[in-house]
Amino acid sequence: RLGQGLEKTRRLLNTDIRDLFKAEGRLVDEELLDEIFAILIRTDMGAGPANQIKDRIARDFRGRVVHTEDILKNIQDELAGLMQQDKEPIKMAAQGPTVILVVGVNGAGKTTSIAKLTRWFIDQGNSVVLGAGDTFRAAASEQLSIWAERLGATIIRGEAGSDPASVAFRAVDEGLKLNADVVIIDTAGRLQTQKNLMTQLDKMRRVIGKKIEDAPHEVLLVLDATAGQNGISQAKGFSDAAQCTGIVLTKLDGTAKGGVVVPIRKEFQLPVKFIGVGEKPEDLTRFDPEAFCNALFA
Ligand code: GDP
Repeated sequence: RLGQGLEKTRRLLNTDIRDLFKAEGRLVDEELLDEIFAILIRTDMGAGPANQIKDRIARDFRGRVVHTEDILKNIQDELAGLMQQDKEPIKMAAQGPTVILVVGVNGAGKTTSIAKLTRWFIDQGNSVVLGAGDTFRAAASEQLSIWAERLGATIIRGEAGSDPASVAFRAVDEGLKLNADVVIIDTAGRLQTQKNLMTQLDKMRRVIGKKIEDAPHEVLLVLDATAGQNGISQAKGFSDAAQCTGIVLTKLDGTAKGGVVVPIRKEFQLPVKFIGVGEKPEDLTRFDPEAFCNALFA
């Protein structure tokens, strides 16, 4: 699934770099280094990382005739190093429900990602309560209910336009009552001002914290890998307002720019915890740099 999901990026890195070489190999000179650099840049990994990989190849191979495999192995190692981070998945509460707040710009894939996370937790034997905290969008709440029923999760909803914090409060309450393992709470994806957003998320945090002292345990930012610089700027507002703890990077199947994981991690100073590679609930995997790079070069 990961391999399929990353096919577009894989084709760019693997196939295009292979195409630079003839069967008998090729001399590593400035021209080849520049061609490799250009391909790396097209994955959106950023100039810094692309330079770092290019320098490593130059250091190891300049002036020698090499084969594709030598170079690909080199790129894979270096890229995995650039993506390295904690292996830990979601930080689960020591006791009682783990509360996860999910934030992000509308359209980034928030609803879908919550369905995917629900499925992921249920697959591991956890019970899940959902809080449909995006009370501004009736459709989102409706969609989440359909997922909850299909996946076997309990859902708490509010009236259209009602206070998201009250939904959050009731969802955590339900989680405690049912002794659920995980409570996942949706939030609004469109607020006019940064101040509004901040006020609302603060209030949600406050009411959640009243119920469970160290909650929310995670605040996940859902980010569309295909949204480009503009999407990143918008998402910055959410991450600044919400004190996020990690990123769910969606739609990696829709882009050859899978290298974007590297600058995103840097820009947000947050680990990428999960990646979305399709529209179905099972199209979510934990982000593991090694598995990710293996899939790119398989
Ligand atoms: P929200 O507005 O942030 O709640 O976004 P939705 O969850 O409704 O998703 C917006 C669109 O993106 C929908 O058509 C989803 O099916 C699609 N989508 C979400 N995640 C992924 C993904 O990982 N891959 C692909 N290809 N599509 C996705």
